[in-house]
Amino acid sequence: MSAKKHILYRNAKEGNSQNFRVNYYEGCSHGCKYCYGCAIKEKSGDADYATWIKPFLVENTLELLKEDLQHVRDKGEVFVESVSDAYMPDADQKVTRKVLELLALSGFTIFLLSKNASLIRDIDLFKRFSQRIKVGFTIVTPNDEIRKRVEPNSSPVEERIAVLKELHKAGLHTVVSLEPLLPNVTIEDYLQLVAEIDPYVSSYEPVGKLSTNIPTEFINNEEWRGIETGRFDAHYVELFKVLLPKLGNKYRIAEHSRAFLDRHDIPYLDKPIKFSSSCDYSTYF
Ligand code: SF4
Repeated sequence: MSAKKHILYRNAKEGNSQNFRVNYYEGCSHGCKYCYGCAIKEKSGDADYATWIKPFLVENTLELLKEDLQHVRDKGEVFVESVSDAYMPDADQKVTRKVLELLALSGFTIFLLSKNASLIRDIDLFKRFSQRIKVGFTIVTPNDEIRKRVEPNSSPVEERIAVLKELHKAGLHTVVSLEPLLPNVTIEDYLQLVAEIDPYVSSYEPVGKLSTNIPTEFINNEEWRGIETGRFDAHYVELFKVLLPKLGNKYRIAEHSRAFLDRHDIPYLDKPIKFSSSCDYSTYF
């Protein structure tokens, strides 16, 4: 466990879809080799990859959340675990359920992304709060061999897609994050992935390229060696041009990719995502 004073934070940047974030883990055992959260912790001297993949639950998480909630009047959308994963293998099942329940009961809309199919265990809770939750997965490649190399402890892609379908069939607002789009995944593979999942996706949030904030020991990973020099810019230009029209009017571009799209005159949607849920939630109260 680790001691902190708060776990609910207001997002400083305007323009973020989620105006709050909740982080009650430090580190994440999914161990993604492109992990932005790990890279940021590394820059601040708080962790390296070896310590990052041994996560800690923040001490007194539930007490801190209750305290933080008392000081927030303007509820909005809250990203649950923006720098970890609420369903990583080390996640405490009871704590995550309670965090979600407290947030929903206090009036927040929850934005929940994971890379672990085990989130299906809480589908009863998601259905109970269906009018206040967007839930789904980050999928950065449809190729499970690449997935194993870059996200060693995440769920296989097929498992995530199977659960995504289940969530959607349950009437929930389902989210898929296509971020980071990897430079070594072909455009054809991404098109095939979107063709398969699109009927089960309410919104793609966010969509974006790989950032250059990567843990030091993986900056020269074979999957993206040279990313910091713009080596893959032509690939990304082509990918965005072909992919974005396939996502209809239900995607949001990651903040860090907007300048890239502007620089290359690639048009993109810039409007809020409509919330959608067909659950008859009245049966769950
Ligand atoms: S799931 Fe997210 S937080 Fe966890 S290691 Fe992967 S990128 Fe980092």
